[in-house]
Order: sequence, then C-alpha cells, then structure tokens
Amino acid sequence: MEYSELGKPPVSSMRVQPHLADPLTARRGFRWERLYRELDWLPGGHLNMAHECIDRHCKGEKAQRVAMLWEGKNGEEERYTFAQLRDETNRFANVLKGLGVQKGDRVFIYMERVPELYISLFGALKLGAIVGPLFSAFGPQPVKDRLLDSGAAVLVTQPHLRRNIAGILPDLPELKHIIVVNKNQRDKAPLPSGDLGYEELMAGASPQFDVARTSMYDYSVMHYTSGTTGKPKGVVHRHLAVVQQYATGRWVLDLHADKDIYWCTADPGWVTGTSYGMFAPWSNGVTQVIYEGGFGPSAWYQAIQKYRVTVWYTAPTAIRMLMKAGDELPGRFDLSSLRYLNSVGEPLNPEAVMWGVKVFKMPIHDNWWQTETGAILIGNYLAMPVRPGSMGRPIPGIVAGVLDDEYNEVPPGTEGNLAVRPGWPAMFHTYWRNQEMYNSRFRKGWYITGDRARVDKDGYFWFVGRADDVIKTAGHLVGPFEVESVLIEHPAVAEAAVIGKPDPLAYQIIKAFVALKNGYEESEALRQDILRHARQRLQSIAPRELEFRPSLPKTRSGKIMRRLLKAQELGLPVGDTSTLED
Ligand code: ATP
Ligand code: MG
Repeated sequence: MEYSELGKPPVSSMRVQPHLADPLTARRGFRWERLYRELDWLPGGHLNMAHECIDRHCKGEKAQRVAMLWEGKNGEEERYTFAQLRDETNRFANVLKGLGVQKGDRVFIYMERVPELYISLFGALKLGAIVGPLFSAFGPQPVKDRLLDSGAAVLVTQPHLRRNIAGILPDLPELKHIIVVNKNQRDKAPLPSGDLGYEELMAGASPQFDVARTSMYDYSVMHYTSGTTGKPKGVVHRHLAVVQQYATGRWVLDLHADKDIYWCTADPGWVTGTSYGMFAPWSNGVTQVIYEGGFGPSAWYQAIQKYRVTVWYTAPTAIRMLMKAGDELPGRFDLSSLRYLNSVGEPLNPEAVMWGVKVFKMPIHDNWWQTETGAILIGNYLAMPVRPGSMGRPIPGIVAGVLDDEYNEVPPGTEGNLAVRPGWPAMFHTYWRNQEMYNSRFRKGWYITGDRARVDKDGYFWFVGRADDVIKTAGHLVGPFEVESVLIEHPAVAEAAVIGKPDPLAYQIIKAFVALKNGYEESEALRQDILRHARQRLQSIAPRELEFRPSLPKTRSGKIMRRLLKAQELGLPVGDTSTLED
C-alpha cells in the first residue's frame, strides 16, 4: 500500500503499559494469568461473566453509575444503572430457576435490541445456563435450525417474533418454555396457551440471587457464525472469555469507566454484539448506548450527538454506507464528543480509514477477530500509528503467524494462511455437536483461521481474503480485498466485490460487481472508466469484467457474500442463505 503511516494519534490518558508499545517483543514472558487478578471472581476461584459485568460494579457508589442508555425504535428512552441491572438480572435468574432450568441448559434469546434482551441474557448466565442470542430479523427456518441444533430448552422472545415462528414450534421437542416479553404493552393480545409472560414472571421474582459458582471453563455463550463462507457453525465459549474481553476493552477500545460513553453498533445476534456490545464495556464498568433502530446515516449521527458518544465501534459496511451518504452530512451534527473510532467484521479499505481522517479528523482503527476467537486478537490500537489497510498487530499474549499450505511459517511479506497459537482466554471450546470440525481447525500446533494474510517486517498484519475467496489468475494468487480497495477509490464506487470466473487461458479471470454512490448513473462510459482506473493501479490483476448492481448481497451481519455472487455467476447452487439480508 502506498499510503504512508498516519502520525501517532494523541496519547491516551490510559496507563500505557510498556508491552502495549511493542506487543511483538513484549509477548515473550506475557502471561494471561496476570490479568486474572484484575477481575473480581467468586469465592472458591469461580468465575461468572454476569458477576464480572454487573454485580462487581455494585459495591459502593459505582452501583449508581448508568450502565445502559437505551433508545427504542420509536424514540422511547430508558436508563439502567448497574444496581438496577443487578436486580433485574437476579429476578430473571430466579424466574429460570423457578422453571427448573439447570446449569448447562441452553436459553435462546430471539428479540429486538430491547433492555429485556440484555436482562434475560445476563440472568441466564447468572444461573449457569448457556445463552444463545439470535438475530431478530431471522425468519422461521434459521431460527428452527439453531434451536434444533442447540437443543434449546427456553426461548425468550417478543409477540411479533413469536408469531413469525409459530409454524416451527411443533418441530422442537427439546424446547420446554417460551417466555414472551410484552414490552410497552404494544401487543397485548392474550398469550398462546403454554407461553409465559415475562412481566408476570418478573413481578413475582425476588431481586436477590446467589450467582452460580461456574468454573472458568464452563460454557457461557454460543453463537452461530455469520455464514459468509457456508453453513453457520455453533461456536461455544466459556466464562473465561471475559478476561480477554475486559483486557481488549481497555487495550484496543481504550474504554474508561469514568469518562466514556461507548456505542457498539453490532446486533447481539452476532459475536461483536455480545463480546463488545455487552462483556467488554460492562466488565470495564463503562456506560453504553443501546440503539434499537436500524442503520440510517442521519439517525446514527444524531445518536452520537445526543448521547455524546466518545468511543465508537462499528463495521466497514456501515462506514461505506456513511461515506455513500456524503461528506457534508456529518457537518450538520455536533460530533465533537467522538474521540476514538474502531471497526471490525470485514477488511477496512484504506479509503475508509482516510475518510475518517477527513470527516471526523481521526482515523478509523481496524481490528481483526472471529466468532471462534471470542475477542480481538489483532488490532490497530490508540497507542500505535495506524497503517491504513492493515488490521494492526497482535495484542499482548497472542502469537499470530502466516503459514504455507503445509502449515509452516513463511517470512514477512509472503502471503499465506493466517494462524494463531492456541490458548488465549476467549478461544472457543468447540463447535456445538461437531468436535470433528473443531479438531480440523488445528494443525501443527496452530489454530487455522481460514483467512489469508501477510505480515510486514514491523509485525502489522494485512488481510488478503478468506481462503475460500482467493482468486487464481494467470499464475497469481489474488486476494479480493486488494482489488476491491482500488475499485472503491474510484469516486463513483460505493461498494465492490470481486470473484474468480473460470477462464480457459488464465484459469480464472477477475470479475467485479460494483454498487454506485448516490448521484451516479450506470453507463458504459462509467464502466470503462472504472475498469481503466483499476488497470492503471493493478495492471495484471485488474478485473476484466464489471457488472453494476444496485447493492451487493450481504449477510445480516453486513458482510459481502462473494460465494453467492460466484454461484449466481456460474449457475451453481447458492448453498446456505439463511443469513442473507433481504
Ligand atoms: P462463516 O464462518 O460462517 O463463513 P464469518 O466468518 O463471516 O462466517 P464471523 O466469525 O462473524 O463469521 O466473521 C469473522 C471473519 O470476518 C473473519 O474470519 C474474517 O474473514 C472477517 N473479518 C473480521 N474482521 C476483519 C478485519 N478487520 N479485516 C478483515 N477481515 C475481517
Ligand atoms: Mg468464519
């Protein structure tokens, strides 16, 4: 990349620890166990995420600090202090206990982003249940697949979502209880027989609860992956994950309980929405904004202005959509509270990092992790210069490497399989009921991530593409990210995805799919202009074909599904599309 490094950002007031300045050298001798001391723990060496995120803050006056600033779809507002969250989650734990729910049972949550989602999730953790959040925009089939696969015993939901999935319920023999949250009485129809009313159950439940003495190795959360490359897998996490979520909340997101208002835009149905929309901020005692409404450039800027958000964690697709909405729009809001911007989920194009500098006067910090890793492993943190287009460097305690196809490490500058030495605290413990697939992810002492990357001589990692998306053309192995990043530098291009298309001479040629920014019209001249721009920058690895699309197919977590574009192009079966956006 020819972007030069962005200058060192203002030094944070956080206690900069020596190893943060140079994670590469400092990881030698680093021990996660040292961080264990910063958590509270339960008597007898037990660890429960809900205790670390809520109850530990309820000693003394900290208990009255606001944990959640909630804004509903229709502008409703609610706030909860840590003490209120403690009482409500205790109530819900008692509700589950009263229903006979046991440690290790699966409690699934299929709700919009309302406070009761958070209360029921943490209440279930307090009891020692395994929680499974489901994205509220899922239709019946994806919900059924996940409830069946996990053998969920309890489903917590809302009336309109309950109606959505009525047809699948007879097919779920292990599902014993459905609890319906009738928020704001907006749907007061009588409950279907057998269903339980959340409000009634909570009214009769005590706010005192003795948090389950879970071990750090007990299961806490299970998440199905985004389904970008295939059928989603049930990734199982342990209570121990909170150690790393807490640490990365400080190191990478620079969260401070005394000064920050944090907003993570991810839905709790995806791992970012729990690891960084619940566990990282609350284990750090930080106030967070929870915004129920969907994406909208003005609405989002408005939320930042209204709540005086300081630290923001979002995703490349959202950033590209904000870019598409224009550079003037942010100027109509007071966004001066923002001090630190972060992104995850897909590669962040250098153009987007630079847009942050232009519009917000600060770069967007990219970081990398997966559902399987449970927490951030590689990041551009505040204490180091950002290299636009790079995912950053491994956090302390993480040894990442780039391996060839025989799983041997390759030198800096060479592309290969991104791998990590196992044993970090937030590492997943299995794929639910699929130990074989779990085992297949480990080779020669490495966890194989399924992504391709290279590392530069300074230890910054550069994403190349998912192993499944890499294109072989005329003797080159090409990562889609590099080509797409050049395409979106063209002023007319909002989003781009490239695939390999079989070709008798070149093995594959690169075909691009492009969505245009507002104000641009599709035309042959524009198509040629974009292809010319790409040829100038990429030469032999430039796309040969380009097709305009109004938008690109994405998962509900906002990731471009190249496999779908490829299947459509080649007339092949499209595979699992349960997570595809409408
Ligand atoms: P599935 O495994 O079902 O195909 P998924 O991999 O999209 O779905 P997630 O666990 O939500 O499911 O996504 C993790 C993946 O997202 C990473 O493996 C990587 O491909 C991509 N990703 C996340 N953050 C970044 C980043 N900063 N840069 C590049 N890619 C990223
Ligand atoms: Mg994956």
